[in-house]
Amino acid sequence: MRSYTPCDLPPLPRLHCPFECRKTVQRYGSKADLYIVKTPCTGKPLANGWCAWHQSSQELLDWGAQIGYPRLQVNSALWITGGIANWEDYAVCYPASRREQITWAIENYSTSERKQARYGHRNT
Ligand SMILES: [Zn+2]
Repeated sequence: MRSYTPCDLPPLPRLHCPFECRKTVQRYGSKADLYIVKTPCTGKPLANGWCAWHQSSQELLDWGAQIGYPRLQVNSALWITGGIANWEDYAVCYPASRREQITWAIENYSTSERKQARYGHRNT
């Protein structure tokens, strides 16, 4: 089974979890003036380089490794661009609430891959 090796993210072992907590803040208390504040995670990284709260990011990258980091359509408005660096880019701000959609998208992707393999190599 293929596994994830850091590309743009710092190599292991890491001193800091690379996750970025993103929070939308209203400037001057105005809803029309929103901006995003990125705060680095302060959790202590485990052996895989992510802290206990952000293990789902490692899980995401492991899944990506198994299917080769393709362009993955998550829902009609969101997709992960193909390539390991883009998957890492997504993993550092991957909200755990998105997990169900991601597993569905990966399952869906693997199924269509298998179908293509089956129909692409027909012995007739
Ligand atoms: Zn973290």
